[in-house]
Amino acid sequence: MLITELKNKDTVLALAEGKVFLLICHGCKEIHFPEHEVEALKKELMEAGKVTGTFTTDYICNPDNLKLRLSFHADAIEAADTVLVFSCGVGVQTVAEYLENKKVVACCDTYALPGFQGVTPLEHDCKQCGECYLNLTGGICPITACSKSLVNGQCGGAKKGKCEVDPNMDCGWERIYQRLKAIGRLDVLKCPVQVRNYATDDEVK
Ligand code: SF4
Ligand code: SF4
Repeated sequence: MLITELKNKDTVLALAEGKVFLLICHGCKEIHFPEHEVEALKKELMEAGKVTGTFTTDYICNPDNLKLRLSFHADAIEAADTVLVFSCGVGVQTVAEYLENKKVVACCDTYALPGFQGVTPLEHDCKQCGECYLNLTGGICPITACSKSLVNGQCGGAKKGKCEVDPNMDCGWERIYQRLKAIGRLDVLKCPVQVRNYATDDEVK
């Protein structure tokens, strides 16, 4: 189980460049979803004339489901400079991979809760670290895509794009670099060093 919390509002607004499309997922809403805060932010962005469209749905972590549902909003998404995603980390990763030419922003942090995690086979993984880094990594999770869960770049041990810990897997940070390069966002790697807050890693008791 998990808890989804809205990131700091100023952080989200700073990332909401240009026109925006809002994608809101209520898939795990029965646990916790910051519905009122998200609706207030949506209203504020709409009143500012920044919104090309909004879509509230569930289970955006299912790629086939996501593609089908987003196809009905293709024009509004095309008109947006940025897609703001309000979901857990798996949902944001699924959207970022599908909308590979768009700036996709993770607007929430995902915290772990003990208990049943569901049985749906998903293409992406989120360790519910409590401080989502996807806005700095092109939508690829550094916690799960890197064997050492590094948040400050490659360890230097990769060989021909393969991880030094597991040569059968692509180096997560090589993937992050290539993705940021493809979307013209290598500038985010110039951000100050991220210090991982392990306090948010603990499951919410
Ligand atoms: S950085 Fe990864 S593990 Fe942490 S919340 Fe985001 S997707 Fe989940
Ligand atoms: S080689 Fe890449 S994926 Fe493997 S531990 Fe180093 S940075 Fe992480």
